[in-house]
Amino acid sequence: MSTTLPEGRLETQLKDKAPLYTRGEAMTEANRCIYCADAPCVQACPTSIDIPTFIHKIATDNVKGSARTIFESNLLGYSCARVCPVEVLCAGSCVYNQWGRPPIEIGRLQRYATESALARDADLLKRTRKAPTGKKIACIGAGPASLAAAGHLALDGHSVTIFEKRAYAGGLNTTGVAPYKLHAQDALREVQMILDLGDIEVKTGVEIDEAAARALLDDFDAVFVGIGLGPDSFLGLEGPGVVGATEYIERLKLDPTTSLDGVHTALVVGGGNTAIDVARELAQLGVPDVAMVYRRTEAVMSGYHHEMVGARKDGVRLVENRQPVAAVRDGGAITGLRVAKTDADGEETLACDLIAVAVGQSRLTALAAAFEGVALDDKGRVVVDEATNRTGNAKVYAGGDCVNGGKEVVNAAQHGKLAARAITASLSGA
Ligand SMILES: Cc1cc2nc3c(=O)[nH]c(=O)nc-3n(C[C@H](O)[C@H](O)[C@H](O)COP(=O)(O)OP(=O)(O)OC[C@H]3O[C@@H](n4cnc5c(N)ncnc54)[C@H](O)[C@@H]3O)c2cc1C
Ligand code: SF4
Repeated sequence: MSTTLPEGRLETQLKDKAPLYTRGEAMTEANRCIYCADAPCVQACPTSIDIPTFIHKIATDNVKGSARTIFESNLLGYSCARVCPVEVLCAGSCVYNQWGRPPIEIGRLQRYATESALARDADLLKRTRKAPTGKKIACIGAGPASLAAAGHLALDGHSVTIFEKRAYAGGLNTTGVAPYKLHAQDALREVQMILDLGDIEVKTGVEIDEAAARALLDDFDAVFVGIGLGPDSFLGLEGPGVVGATEYIERLKLDPTTSLDGVHTALVVGGGNTAIDVARELAQLGVPDVAMVYRRTEAVMSGYHHEMVGARKDGVRLVENRQPVAAVRDGGAITGLRVAKTDADGEETLACDLIAVAVGQSRLTALAAAFEGVALDDKGRVVVDEATNRTGNAKVYAGGDCVNGGKEVVNAAQHGKLAARAITASLSGA
């Protein structure tokens, strides 16, 4: 597995929006926490991290203990510290909000604890590993769901092989998350931290097809499916000058040949978080005019309000009530986007030289359905038992975006953890 990324990638121009706290800053912020007994912040965390305890340990300068508290609940606590939408999860639930005061900066404190502790003691987690069991588990996909599952399984003493079709592991943490939250190099650093936990091998550049998936059942004691979502949808706009948002973000992050030279006006179609992300990245990378084109109004957009506030600060415009009809080209070059007005009659053409379409991704779950007994719901999501993430096939588990249709890294981490616990229980005959 490669952990070295090429020089000259555009994402390296974007700086951390929430840099690592110094010790003094972290202790000052930690001392604001009142350690609520019924901590609403914990209830809002999908992995139920004991937030008051980890913050208290920072306040007493026990950084390793703090990181241990975080990792016990969430092995991806390092990336989650940086990418979690804390504004709508833990920090959004902090009691300080009720008093009209800024909530505790839980994400930044979590980053401080995990990053400082790992810098001081890279073997922090490894020491809790159990004796080898001789059991083998395969994970399909090397995104957050599989990495969390693999890490917990390795700590339980099992041997794990992860199959990843891309050249790099990490899933969307490496290829999709906004660089000002997490750069690809740091996502790969977390991957390495997980691999160091025990007997885990990642085979990159290996795409598992339906036949290969079924064959895994002969060679492994259990299989975890963490394949995420599929390619971008295009609304029929595909063609030169039109890019899919997630595919384009992956190029901004990983491909040093991608350039924004000559792009003056970029239109982003969509109103979700991926649309906001690509718009903010283009604006921060210096595209002079970036606008999001949304078919309804801001009030009903699925993108987070706090992200839209950030987008406006970056200079992104929002064009409401416009439904894309067709890309307009002059020769081969894109010159505009024809849109229908949804709040009035008629159409208009918005000038542009790049269109990024962020209206959702297709499903890859036919792969999961290749296993006997695995069911998909009417939205193409893999059906699992909520407590164990086990599918209808007793040896097959699934988690992350392929199960929930696309949520957050922290949800994928929780699925991986639940599946690993259930696999260990099942393999030990419990
Ligand atoms: C642009 C974008 C920005 C995001 N930003 C945030 C954010 O800021 N914060 C946040 O919490 N969440 C964010 N998310 C959501 C988050 O990234 C996902 O919820 C999370 O990565 C899901 O993890 P996963 O393991 O299920 O899937 P993925 O991360 O998609 O990983 C799946 C992996 O499986 C591999 N794979 C697929 N099929 C096969 C196959 N047949 N064989 C082998 N390998 C295969 C893929 O290549 C991929 O590496 C974002 C999502 C997008 C699209
Ligand atoms: S709700 Fe806020 S103040 Fe209370 S424990 Fe959580 S972070 Fe601390």
